[in-house]
Amino acid sequence: MDAQVANNKTSARFEVREIGVVQSVRKFVVLAKGLPSCMNGQIVEFSDGTLGLVMGFNEEKVQILVLGDASNIRAGEEVYNKGKSLNLPVSEAFLGRIVNALCQPQDNLGPIESKETFPVFRVAPGVMERVPVKETLETGTMILDAVIPIAKGQRQLLIGDRLTGKTSVAIDAIISQKGKDVICIYCCIGKPYSALLKILDIFIEKDALDYSIVVSGVASVSTGEQYLAPYTACMLGEYFMYKGKDVLVVFDDLTKHAWVYRQISLLLERAPGREAYPGDIFYIHSQLMERAGFLKPERGNGSMTFFPIVDILQGDVTGYISTNLISMTDGQLYFSTTLFNKGVKPAIDFGLSVSRIGNKAQWPVMKELSKSLRLDYLQYKELLQMTQLRTTGLSKEAEAKLRRGEAINQLIVQDKNKPVSMEVEILYLYALNRGLLDNLSIGQMKHFKQDILAYVSKVYPQFAADIRKFKEFSEDIKQKMEEGLKEYFQEVIR
Ligand code: ATP
Ligand code: MG
Repeated sequence: MDAQVANNKTSARFEVREIGVVQSVRKFVVLAKGLPSCMNGQIVEFSDGTLGLVMGFNEEKVQILVLGDASNIRAGEEVYNKGKSLNLPVSEAFLGRIVNALCQPQDNLGPIESKETFPVFRVAPGVMERVPVKETLETGTMILDAVIPIAKGQRQLLIGDRLTGKTSVAIDAIISQKGKDVICIYCCIGKPYSALLKILDIFIEKDALDYSIVVSGVASVSTGEQYLAPYTACMLGEYFMYKGKDVLVVFDDLTKHAWVYRQISLLLERAPGREAYPGDIFYIHSQLMERAGFLKPERGNGSMTFFPIVDILQGDVTGYISTNLISMTDGQLYFSTTLFNKGVKPAIDFGLSVSRIGNKAQWPVMKELSKSLRLDYLQYKELLQMTQLRTTGLSKEAEAKLRRGEAINQLIVQDKNKPVSMEVEILYLYALNRGLLDNLSIGQMKHFKQDILAYVSKVYPQFAADIRKFKEFSEDIKQKMEEGLKEYFQEVIR
């Protein structure tokens, strides 16, 4: 706020101030009188310097959400309205930093320099400012890149029970952006501080902090800040998007955000609706989700991809918040506890997961290689169930299908925080389609996954660069790749 006032010399000299009086304080919600010209979404300041966000009106009183510690605010004190909406500082210097919902540093690395501010509740870019998605976002998770591809500018919901690996997949996507010129923002909402620290450790270990910003709305900060955190994360993303950069924002998680908003609404005495959430929870989330997208070249060609995360109970996707979010995103990844417990990690259920727009931007080579993957795998699952009842007298064809399915199973199982690059995924799928993996033992498969790129690169050093450049197979690439694979299978697997 102050930076903006200083920028604008006239307003520094003649500051508009309306003075109201605090009537009552209920936890983190304040009712005040005497601010006749304030509007929804504007910011007010209490006499101790704490900021408040105008949330609505009730007869002649203003409802204010305290963005910070409300314990020092007392009835009868003054509250000031400067007639401003909530604008927060933005700059390149935010990269590598951990900030709270008010963009204040939380990492003891000193102040963050900034000359500009951006509105936190900006209206999403209109249809005329956007173009359809056209570039793929490499997630580092093979099953996503191959079967449920995600494009830059897409909103992909990560939905599943507790402890099914949702955060891990999102973090892997962030780690994979290293060196790819994508800015990543991780927004933590309502999680314990210890959970955030664990994620920070991974960021540091994998050198992902240089191109990332962490927005912390952990459970220990004020309710107002937890409510604001995703909007702040989105605003920081917009700063880079309007500069022409690609941005990935992870909201972990919006279930907690909905809880926070429900708490605020109940204190504001708004009528509770379905599952006691206020009626405008849909609006609150859709307003946020709409801000993702791919801007047209005249607006800088930037993009913002969203990974909102939602927690559900016992696989039930029919809850209010989850159905809302499914309807306002471009696809969902469904994480299944059953798969997780069987050791299929990441535990993404093929059948229930979709990406509605991602395949439009998929690399042609990936599209070609993964064409039959979903079907092969689903058929394998079906066959597997059947063979549990009957083990003898399988046809040759069924046996081959089972072996192929087993190979796919081995390929999609992936350790957390070890994202696989697109080039390697292409090698895996090529070998799979050629039938080279059908007869490998578990040990051989592990070895293959680890070493194949190194082998192929020995024979064909330009492999990774060529695939990345052309994104499809030429006869030349195919031939050299074949040579590499042949050598590997002759030397290592005899
Ligand atoms: P929460 O509901 O607590 O947010 P979550 O769904 O985000 O959980 P994670 O925190 O990502 O799940 O993972 C849950 C546990 O599963 C963690 O202990 C993590 O180490 C483990 N895990 C996640 N993915 C994998 C994987 N691919 N391989 C092995 N372990 C994994
Ligand atoms: Mg999580």
